[in-house]
Formats: sequence, structure tokens, C-alpha cells
Amino acid sequence: PYTGPLADQVLEKRKRFLGPSLFYYYQKPLNIVEGKMQYLFDESGRRYLDAFAGIVTVSCGHCHPDVLDAIMEQSKLLQHATTIYLHHAIADFAEALASKMPGNLKVVYFVNSGTEANELAMLMARLYSGNLGMIALRNAYHGGSAGTIGLTALNTWKYSIPQGEIHHVVNPDPYHGIFGSDASRYAKDVQDHIDFGTSGKVAGFVAETIQGVGGAVELAPGYLKQVYDIVRKAGGVCIADEVQTGFGRTGSHYWGFETQGVIPDIVTMAKGIGNGLPLGAVVTTPEIANVMAQKIQFNTFGGNPVCSAGGHAVLRVLDKEKRQAHSADVGSHLLGRLRALQERHDIIGDVRGRGLMVGIELVTDRKEKTPAKAETALLFEKLRELGVLVGKGGLNGNVFRIKPPMCFTKDDADFLVDALDYAMSKL
Ligand code: PMP
Repeated sequence: PYTGPLADQVLEKRKRFLGPSLFYYYQKPLNIVEGKMQYLFDESGRRYLDAFAGIVTVSCGHCHPDVLDAIMEQSKLLQHATTIYLHHAIADFAEALASKMPGNLKVVYFVNSGTEANELAMLMARLYSGNLGMIALRNAYHGGSAGTIGLTALNTWKYSIPQGEIHHVVNPDPYHGIFGSDASRYAKDVQDHIDFGTSGKVAGFVAETIQGVGGAVELAPGYLKQVYDIVRKAGGVCIADEVQTGFGRTGSHYWGFETQGVIPDIVTMAKGIGNGLPLGAVVTTPEIANVMAQKIQFNTFGGNPVCSAGGHAVLRVLDKEKRQAHSADVGSHLLGRLRALQERHDIIGDVRGRGLMVGIELVTDRKEKTPAKAETALLFEKLRELGVLVGKGGLNGNVFRIKPPMCFTKDDADFLVDALDYAMSKL
């Protein structure tokens, strides 16, 4: 049994020694001390079904034995010697990752987080195009650094600092968007921004392929195809942020952008790529990579042997355990059950997503789509009491985000839906 510090002590120390911007979930925050596949355990040994996966980060499962073995074997031999020397792990991992990419996306840069990946992608876009303006979607989250905070368009995370030339276009959100599911009208807004708000030239366009923090928002079908054409005509490159959607989570495809039938010029990844290791990557074409060669692009830990060995093991596990097909199968079961639940509970305004990337939007009025903020908060606490951990998101914090480790089963999905049903019936 766990004998370490208890929640109150940890919280007190966090308050004293960590910044006040660090936030936590739940009125009585959880002290999680152990994880095993799709389960988390608190200080008292109580088990929780984890439907949030450390914010969509744990792909294979908490402490997956194969990933752990790879990390430990490499750690015993060599943890770090910098990429100035050769090591096979980074080269092998890059080869394996490139083999998962379509088209000419064959050059890999390793970094340590999603923010760093998007920061690097933005740099590439600006250098390659020779332009400065970036286009991003409203309701997007791309990171919290000085550069990526500009791409992010959810004000919870936006500090007021100079953010460069960034244009936030109308979000092609089929549920809330002013043009419904009409991709052409949203794409026209991108063209308008270019025509009226720029010199006519842009550096690039970036979008998550299903918005994560924004509340599991799928882009109107056909949107990316039209926008990629528009952006390329204006001299820009197209970046897909796969930090949450990559590695088979959407079920139907390995990458989220494939659900829109496009091939980006740059793809950014993090989170699920490392199953919990601090790891991110940018994959691009040799042409774009070439402009980076005018200087040295260096990242001390990017692709270090331990993260490379772990990340490579993640790719192998996802293939061996057929997690993409599993996500499709369990995801459609989950979505089906949630849609049935929606018929019985008026508070469920929208059920959306793909595979194991699911959102449930709660409203007090289905027609007005009024955010059920207080009810969401109550249900969130109730689910925790029942042993189920989900995420919250959306502009008004009224969307449950269900994005579990990809080993999540149909029984787990049933447990989650039954718990939600019970909690809603008690509202
Ligand atoms: N892009 C997306 C889509 C994300 O969800 C996040 C993190 N929530 C990031 C980028 C930034 O990743 P990190 O926190 O690893 O810097």
C-alpha cells in the first residue's frame, strides 16, 4: 500500500512552492499515485476508470509493460549523450515514424512537447514561405509559449503579450458554427481574411483535426481540402496539429487529417507519441526541411535515447495490439450508447467525435444551446465519486471529453455510460 504524502500535504506544498496558475480538477483534488493500463489509483488504493488519459497522452495504457521495458533497458545503457554523437535509437524511431506518414512527409524533428512542436512548425512555415502571417481557428489550442499562445484562440490561456500576425478565422464547428456544416462558407472566411487582412500572402495555416481542448469539435466535412488550396495559393504551408488526434485514436484513420482527405506540409505531434514520456515531433517534407539547414536547429533532449526507445515501443505496441481498429470498435460502441442516452436526457445537447476522441456537450436548452455550466460541474464531481474520471473542455467548460487510453474496452465504455446515466438521473 501507498505510504507517501497525502492529498492535503501535497496540495499545501503545491500552493507554497508552485505557481498559482497551476490548476486542479475536483473540489477535493485527487492524489493519484499509481496507474495500470486504463486505471488510476489514489492514495487510499481506490481504483478509477481513466477516460481522460492524462489529457489524451497515455495512448497504450498507463505503465504499459512493453513501453516500460524499452525505457528501462535503454536507461540502463545510456540516458543521454546529445545528438552530436550518433545513436541508433533516434534514427530507428525516425524511420518508424516516417513509415507511418503519407506522401512526402519523411523528415522528422524531435522535440519535447506539443508547444515546442508547434513553435518549430510555425518557424518552418515562416522561413519556407518568406511570409509572416499565420491563420488559425477560433476555439483552437496549440500551446502556451510566447509564439503558440498567438495561435491558441481560447481566452483562458491567452496572456496579453505581442502575438505577431495571427488571423483567427471562423471555426467550422457543425454544432455551434454560424454556417452549420457548410465547409465552403467557412473556407470563404479564410479567403476573406487573406484578401482583406493580409498583403495577400501568408506563411501558413494550422488546425487541430478534431479540436481537443476546445471540446472534441470535428471540423465541417471537406473544410481542410478547400482551405489547404486557398492557403497554398496564398503562398502558405498547411500544418496539421495531431497532438491529440494522432496514432489511431480516431479509429477510422491513423492520423486525424486523413479523415478530411488531405496531406499537410507539416505535421506536429506530442502526447500520445510517448505514452507519458516528454516527447514531441514535427514531420515535414525534404523541401521544407532544407530551409532549416541554413542554420543549426538544435534541441538538447529532442530524440534522446530514452524517449526514442520509448516512443518507438509505443508505435510497436499500437500496431501489435491493433489499437486503431480497437479504437474504432470501442468508439462506435461508446458513441452509440451515448446517443441512446441523449434520447433520455435533455441535458445532452450534442454527442460527437470519432473513435476514442469523444465529446458530450451539456446544455440547459437544446434549441438555444445554453451551456449547462453548473450541471456539468456537478456531474463531473458525481462521476468521480462513482469512480470515473473524464475531462472537461469547450469555451464554456460544458463539454465532457472522453479520450481514454486506447486499451479502453466496451465494458469500460458501458461502465462510463451507466455512471453518467445514474448521475444525470440524480440531477
Ligand atoms: N496542441 C494541442 C492540440 C494540444 O492539445 C496541446 C496540449 N493540450 C498542445 C498542442 C500543447 O502541448 P504541450 O502541452 O505538450 O506543450
